[in-house]
Amino acid sequence: MLVEGYTYAHEHTTIDLSSLKKSDDTRLDCFNETVEEYKTLYDKGVRNIIDVTVGGMERNPEYVKKVQELSGINILQSTGWYQDKFLPDYIETTSIEDLADMMIKDIKIGIGHTDIKAGLIGEIATSKQEMTSRERKVFEAAVIAHKATGVPITTHTTLGTFGKEQVAFFKEQSVDLSRVVIGHVDLTGDADYVLDLLEEGVYVEFDTVGKENYMPDLTRIDMLKKIEEKGMTDKVFLSMDITRKSNLKPFGGIGYSYLLDTFVPLMKEHGISDQFIEKMLVDNPRSFFIKDDEQ
Ligand SMILES: [Zn+2]
Repeated sequence: MLVEGYTYAHEHTTIDLSSLKKSDDTRLDCFNETVEEYKTLYDKGVRNIIDVTVGGMERNPEYVKKVQELSGINILQSTGWYQDKFLPDYIETTSIEDLADMMIKDIKIGIGHTDIKAGLIGEIATSKQEMTSRERKVFEAAVIAHKATGVPITTHTTLGTFGKEQVAFFKEQSVDLSRVVIGHVDLTGDADYVLDLLEEGVYVEFDTVGKENYMPDLTRIDMLKKIEEKGMTDKVFLSMDITRKSNLKPFGGIGYSYLLDTFVPLMKEHGISDQFIEKMLVDNPRSFFIKDDEQ
């Protein structure tokens, strides 16, 4: 459930990918610094953060809940698993039904050993240009859990690849596509590709704002302009997907406020309407999660 205000749709309050990435920077566990940054976001009108941290990323629901309490920002937590190389070994040996049951438990009773309920499934993930058999298992389990609970699904595409295949998969499984958001589509750099996804009826995320080394922000803005020109403005979210210590301001990074302080003015400067910006930050995430409220 979301509260009135801006929403960052794809973040990780705490995450640890260091066991594979072999860099301490990819262990984001700076509690005090994160609380301070979230408080600053609150002051700027952010009221919701969708935390898409799942199994394989060292999720810590109690840590996230404490950040929520201290910052005042509503943080929606999730269930599921990430891309193949981060999947725990038990994915291989556990049945799809049992994996689904684990997600349903996280949604109905609480994540792990807590009573903190997951409000969405994912980011479930595909690898670069492929969906591995273990990833497919997670996707199939996610569909079962989604149908059993009504909780929406959010995905990770690796560098924007395989988004169309993800949509085809969900269609094949008769999932209501308006309950699915495809992640990292800004990394395609291809507005037509994103428009094709939107035509299918899914939501999409421009969720790596500020990651200039992956894709220049001006390309993101160019894509958003084309999307607005086509009038497809109802199903786009914004976020930054901060995952590293060095992304935070105290460690020399651009910090979470960058989206509001720099990217929003840049969008306006390049002709994106205030109305579209408001939709991406407020109305679109709200309508995506509204069905939760109705249940
Ligand atoms: Zn991701």
